[in-house]
Amino acid sequence: MPLIKVSDLCFSYSDEPVLTDIDLEIEKGDFIGIVGPNGSGKTTLMKIIAGLESPDEGAVEVDGKASGYNGLIGYVPQKYERDPHFPATVEELLNISATQEIDYDLLEELEVDNLLDRKFVELSGGQQQRIMAAFALMKDPEILILDEPSVGVDIQAQEKFYNLLERLNTEEELTVLFVSHDVGVVSDKTNKVALINREICCTGTTDELPELMETAYGDEFKAFKHLHEHSH
Ligand code: ADP
Repeated sequence: MPLIKVSDLCFSYSDEPVLTDIDLEIEKGDFIGIVGPNGSGKTTLMKIIAGLESPDEGAVEVDGKASGYNGLIGYVPQKYERDPHFPATVEELLNISATQEIDYDLLEELEVDNLLDRKFVELSGGQQQRIMAAFALMKDPEILILDEPSVGVDIQAQEKFYNLLERLNTEEELTVLFVSHDVGVVSDKTNKVALINREICCTGTTDELPELMETAYGDEFKAFKHLHEHSH
């Protein structure tokens, strides 16, 4: 039985259909890259899997149960829509949910331990994301969903972050769903990929990425490949 099973899923924001007839299966221990152009519905699908939005049609099951908020999933969004005057420091924010002790070793490993006294809203997108990932990991989830920010990322710190995810994936069978705009990072880090384009969702191993891109994006991808080959 797959750990996550999405069947015939449809979702619209008011009148705009965003996802149509999407099927996707993710096994325990997968480190899966979720790839697709801007606006293809990746973030929406992740929110539905995390139980933050409900499908209009179809179903999402996590560990055999209808999805909805449960302790199995740690969800780290791409952006934090917070009031720029939100006054909390990182430490205060981590203390708000007192269900677990702050894991200082984890903060150190993610290179955010020196930011505890800083105001959360003043940090870069990458720093905010690593803090929220640390927060999600402190709850010991089975699944981590990470919607990667495309701006404000410190490459070196991010590399360490990916290494930590790889270790948790290998040693603790943490299932990771990794949304990224960067196909290079996805092919480097993940062992499976899901290509999403509103009505298309195809999965395969990361080695199959070029063929999958052709299936999902057809002529658009061929034109890109052609240009790319001729620029070398
Ligand atoms: P991606 O993550 O692939 O860039 P999204 O899931 O964020 O795609 O968005 C898919 C489509 O849904 C886009 O056209 C976007 O403008 C629209 N959309 C996203 N969030 C909302 C929202 N809260 N209300 C209305 N439309 C939205």
